[in-house]
Amino acid sequence: MSGQFPPLKQLVPPYIHKIEPYIPSKPDDVLKQMYNSPVLCRMNNNENVIGPPPQALEAIRRFEPERAAIYPSGDAYHLRQRLGEIYGISPDAFIVGNGANEVIAFVIKAFCQQGDNIITADKTFAVYEWVAEFSGFESRLVPLKEYGFDDEAMLAAVDDRTKIIFICNPNNPTGTYWSDTRLRAFLDKVNGRQIVVVDEAYAEFAEAADFPDGMSLIKEYPNLVIFRTFSKMYALAALRIGYLAGNIDIVNVIRRTCIVYSVNALAQDAALAALADDGGHVARTRVLVRESKEYLKQELDALGLHYICGEGNYVIIRLPFSDTLAYRKLMRMGYMVRTMTGFRFPNHIRVTLHAVPVMEGFIRALRKII
Ligand SMILES: *Cc1c(COP(=O)(O)O)cnc(C)c1O
Repeated sequence: MSGQFPPLKQLVPPYIHKIEPYIPSKPDDVLKQMYNSPVLCRMNNNENVIGPPPQALEAIRRFEPERAAIYPSGDAYHLRQRLGEIYGISPDAFIVGNGANEVIAFVIKAFCQQGDNIITADKTFAVYEWVAEFSGFESRLVPLKEYGFDDEAMLAAVDDRTKIIFICNPNNPTGTYWSDTRLRAFLDKVNGRQIVVVDEAYAEFAEAADFPDGMSLIKEYPNLVIFRTFSKMYALAALRIGYLAGNIDIVNVIRRTCIVYSVNALAQDAALAALADDGGHVARTRVLVRESKEYLKQELDALGLHYICGEGNYVIIRLPFSDTLAYRKLMRMGYMVRTMTGFRFPNHIRVTLHAVPVMEGFIRALRKII
């Protein structure tokens, strides 16, 4: 050994010290071996089982391998032009990131400093909370009310150090959503004092007539920032691409914190091509999800299991025993679900919806374990 081991007590900030690292699931080949299952049906990440739209597949096939040597557009130029056309706002009102996950960090870094806090729910997508905490900021977690975001309690949690309020609409994992009226009422009460982020990762799945169109609200509410992703409906999760949109002055502030060149060229090509879908891909996916929900609800009712089935491509189910035990048993039968204890829903599993024949197999496996 040359030299001393670094003095971690001194080097590591206390807010990093207390954090448990997130352990991602192992690759499929390793899992199949571990659980001695020749097949593995992924129901854990809310991926779109239909796969990417045909135009995106074509763009991926056409990608010239030699382009691997060349840096991509540093700010996803062409994709932003197209997004600007689609939503009728300036291309500069968008920041494209390495998944919507990355843009969460951009927003927090842009607005929070020591002593500040963010507000979100206790049972929602956990990355808002994690990024705030490992950056040294307090995350105020307001309990869900009837499985949905509690607007009154969130407003009550605001103080003069609150910088950002994160709403997941529809919520992952409960599928509950705020209607257009409810979102507007909330934004009116916030009255521009904080940044309000509405994460619309599953917006393309929402079929309810009163589901808000966050992108169109940007013109009315300059403190509103919308997140979208190509990982879910557009099935480009492996390529890591998502974006935020907002008022141009706000986005220009966020841009100062963003990592240029973090979005690879293949992802940019595929996302641009995915936007050329004529609606067929979205419609096919919605039909699959709708039929799958109908089937699953019927079966879960018959089994007497409590579940929450909302607007996303997932359902959360309460089991009469531990979710980690259920996970292991289902894995041995080839079904990989998401345990919900980490989302503060002990004894719950979240299940990504597949086509009915696959769901039939899942229900058979579920029957065996309960
Ligand atoms: C999946 C998901 C995201 C982020 O997805 P990326 O793959 O990073 O684009 C963001 N928010 C919610 C609620 C999600 O479920």
